[in-house]
Amino acid sequence: MSIPVWIQDWIEKDRLVANKFRISKTYLRQSKRIQFQSGNEENGKWLQFHYVVHSPKYGRYNVTYENGFYHCNCPFFKHRRICSHILAVSQKTGVWPTKESIFPAEPE
Ligand SMILES: [Zn+2]
Repeated sequence: MSIPVWIQDWIEKDRLVANKFRISKTYLRQSKRIQFQSGNEENGKWLQFHYVVHSPKYGRYNVTYENGFYHCNCPFFKHRRICSHILAVSQKTGVWPTKESIFPAEPE
């Protein structure tokens, strides 16, 4: 599954996110750093899962997914609601966060 267009646009506009995307590629090249822990799927679709991503510098990070929402316990996630760990797991699984989970729509 390819990268959603809105994430591609985000990577082009936000240098910090672009940097995290580059880092995510290094995780994908070292697949042992991305470890599945647990998850539930229904009809071939993931409802939730938990991965651990091993950062060479900072140790283990927990990436969880549930109903379109990702969470990671790294510091960068608090700033952008995305990070290299989530981008790595998304590319590995083909499961991406929903745009609304990161940029909630303004009430009309
Ligand atoms: Zn993270």
